[in-house]
Amino acid sequence: MATIYEDEINELKNELIIAKGRKYCYSCCKYAFEGVCLGCGSDDLMTELAGVGRDWHFSISDLIDGYDMDVSEVTFDEFREEFLLSLDESYPPTEFMGLFIDASYMWEEHINDDSEIHAMIDGYYTDGTIVEINSKWYRTDDLITALKNEIASAELQTA
Ligand SMILES: [Zn+2]
Repeated sequence: MATIYEDEINELKNELIIAKGRKYCYSCCKYAFEGVCLGCGSDDLMTELAGVGRDWHFSISDLIDGYDMDVSEVTFDEFREEFLLSLDESYPPTEFMGLFIDASYMWEEHINDDSEIHAMIDGYYTDGTIVEINSKWYRTDDLITALKNEIASAELQTA
């Protein structure tokens, strides 16, 4: 489920790390230029990402936070707003004594069942509209765009 997008996001993550990263030897405390440390011969090198830190592995969350990327987590409240809007788009207002009452209002007053919102989120996940990263939801397109922009900015810096 949704693995095509997760694979694409992981590939972009790796591309970004390569574009912005600098290899670093933990034992010798110095940079390694050839993929192998000239000091000790180790190929088990860390990567230094300016602004993010030094590590052997970075998560997508590390990159989003470290580079302050233009992509934000979708909160449950935002999904709830979307769900209510979809109700108003799907159902006409109910007429009562000359008053028109929105479907979303009726739902909130009489049903208000979060499991319906969770079902919508599950659907988004299944069709790839959103991805889950470290227990946070992101819109797939926004995350891919943010990663591509970050990679493009790295290429500009090195060009
Ligand atoms: Zn070394």
